[in-house]
Amino acid sequence: MAGKPKVPTCLVCSQQIAGGPSEWPQFPFCSQRCKLVDLGRWFDERYNLPAGPRTVQEISEEIEELEVRRLEQESEEGFD
Ligand SMILES: [Zn+2]
Repeated sequence: MAGKPKVPTCLVCSQQIAGGPSEWPQFPFCSQRCKLVDLGRWFDERYNLPAGPRTVQEISEEIEELEVRRLEQESEEGFD
């Protein structure tokens, strides 16, 4: 059986992301949004946050906040 070449799909929403990382900067996700959703899931598992269902918006805000704090710390410590 000669199947079609396997097209990778977004790990979150299963949209096809043919072309791979060169065409999809957020590969293996179709978008920044899906990447954040996946990160949010990971955070939930790791820290077992006592949170109810959260929206993508809430998750992305949370991650952005963490990222900003991390960058602030790095600049304070003077990495270069
Ligand atoms: Zn997606």
